[in-house]
Amino acid sequence: MKKHLNGVKVPHHKGTSEKQIVWMDVPEKVTIPMSQQIGPPCEPLVAVGDEVKVGQKIGFADHPMSVPIHASVSGKVTAIEDFLTPMGAMTKAIIITADKLQEKDPAIAPPVVTDHASFVQAVRDSGLVGLGGASFPTFIKLNPKDLASVTTLVVNAAECEPFITADDRGMRELSDKLFVGIEAVRKYLELEQVIIGVEDNKPAAIAHLREKETDTLKVQSLRSRYPQGGEKVLIYETTGKVVGEGKLPADVGVIVMNVTSLITLGQYLLTGEPLTYRCVTVAGSAIANPQNVMVYLGTSYQDVIDFCGGFSQEPGAVFMGGPMMGICVYDLSFPVLKNNNAIVALSKKDVVEDKESPCINCGRCISACPFNLMPTNIDRALAAGDVEMLKELKVNLCMECGSCAFVCPAKRQLVVSNKLAKKKLMNAGKR
Ligand code: SF4
Ligand code: SF4
Repeated sequence: MKKHLNGVKVPHHKGTSEKQIVWMDVPEKVTIPMSQQIGPPCEPLVAVGDEVKVGQKIGFADHPMSVPIHASVSGKVTAIEDFLTPMGAMTKAIIITADKLQEKDPAIAPPVVTDHASFVQAVRDSGLVGLGGASFPTFIKLNPKDLASVTTLVVNAAECEPFITADDRGMRELSDKLFVGIEAVRKYLELEQVIIGVEDNKPAAIAHLREKETDTLKVQSLRSRYPQGGEKVLIYETTGKVVGEGKLPADVGVIVMNVTSLITLGQYLLTGEPLTYRCVTVAGSAIANPQNVMVYLGTSYQDVIDFCGGFSQEPGAVFMGGPMMGICVYDLSFPVLKNNNAIVALSKKDVVEDKESPCINCGRCISACPFNLMPTNIDRALAAGDVEMLKELKVNLCMECGSCAFVCPAKRQLVVSNKLAKKKLMNAGKR
């Protein structure tokens, strides 16, 4: 059995790790899209002209996967518009013009949690989704089919993407809430152990959390190697368990939760305040004053970047998330979403448009892949339209981490091929 999975060494660029989280002012307006999770979009529960308070439920869908969306500022609903999500789907967005009073919804109160069912309902009511980027509804994760077989919570604190330090700061500044969240998951799911996996480029966070170690709660220092925070990679590195193709972590007795999700959960259990703000790392060579900022959800990128001193030079690309797995944002009116852990703006000189050339069969992409996939063969099978071969090559295991493309000397667009290949398999009913 391999000690470690493959992966790549990426530059860390964690220059904001020593900067304390700062709160941003309430913006003039927020744009709150009704689709911020995996699953169907919410329906607006308010109309233009309505007054809203902080934490008020403004969106929900009658669907088993739906989690509510809440107002992040108090003020008036001034528009409900069409909105194009980062994944290219159309949804509605509620525009709230802030009154800057930040009056809270009077219904806000700590949830009454007495057992697993009431805990799962509380997590759903909090509006929580995977805040590390996945945006999977947390309440579903905490309600696995075979609860009795789940024994371990793995806290994903790897934060392996370059530039991002929001989780790191959260562990050091908000650990009281983190441990409230962890303890609730441990208690109501009756888990045997908790492992917090942190890359070893965060020594201060590791030392701080280790002060709270017990026989059943361990902090595991992981080597800094991208993509250490990939769910299946993290499970292997912390527990030695393999989550196979088409399987879920719960199938091997594990639940994985992002560390900032657990901090937010702790905050909710203590106060009843749902998810209306989050910590965002604002960094990259084009940002004048990189830092970690607590941002009201729905605040525009332009407002957040202005708060960080604006651009120091013309950006070549602005990412929602990190440069490895993030999505390029082309319009700075784009709002901060629940799963948006970073805004990374790179200068023009740092954004090189690589020209693809033919594969030279060097095999580096295969060596880089944590799952030993063969991206070059997937690329060829896709070009040939060979669905059977794509299935055989297990492309559905691909987590789109980009390690293969990162090392490819021919600059092949391997992640794009993998995404298209997965789509092709899905359309062919072979998922
Ligand atoms: S094939 Fe997928 S999982 Fe493997 S390195 Fe490439 S993007 Fe990552
Ligand atoms: S790394 Fe690039 S050039 Fe090398 S085998 Fe893979 S696709 Fe081909």
